[in-house]
Amino acid sequence: MSTTVNTAAPPGVPDDPLTNFFWEGARAGELRIQRCQACGTYIHLPRPVCRNCRGFDLAGEPVSGMATLYSYTVTHKPFHPFYVDRVPYTVATVELAEQAGLQLLTRLVDIDDDRIEIGMALQVTFEQLSADLTIAVFTAAGVR
Ligand SMILES: [Zn+2]
Repeated sequence: MSTTVNTAAPPGVPDDPLTNFFWEGARAGELRIQRCQACGTYIHLPRPVCRNCRGFDLAGEPVSGMATLYSYTVTHKPFHPFYVDRVPYTVATVELAEQAGLQLLTRLVDIDDDRIEIGMALQVTFEQLSADLTIAVFTAAGVR
């Protein structure tokens, strides 16, 4: 039996003026969500126009990082070479505390499978995958 080491690089970070604030925030250990500066509506995924008031004055703002679990699934098949030896992992949709319906696609970490429950309280934490890429993931609230 041979042992192979997974040397695949993680997915790259897109250089996009619309989303750079999100990745910069994650590298700084801060969850930032786009917010309309005219009406205060949080928007995710980021867009060029506010879906509430059609305003163009949008900016990334730090949020609390508190959320509840909306839905999840356990992924057994790696969809990128970097994840070949990182499966299974739990993909989740979480609803951020700041606004009803404000959802983020993420991953759950450090929660035993039998403790995962729809509606459970979560908090953000960060995983640095490369020099450029840090991602926001979620764990049970009050653990860290
Ligand atoms: Zn607006």
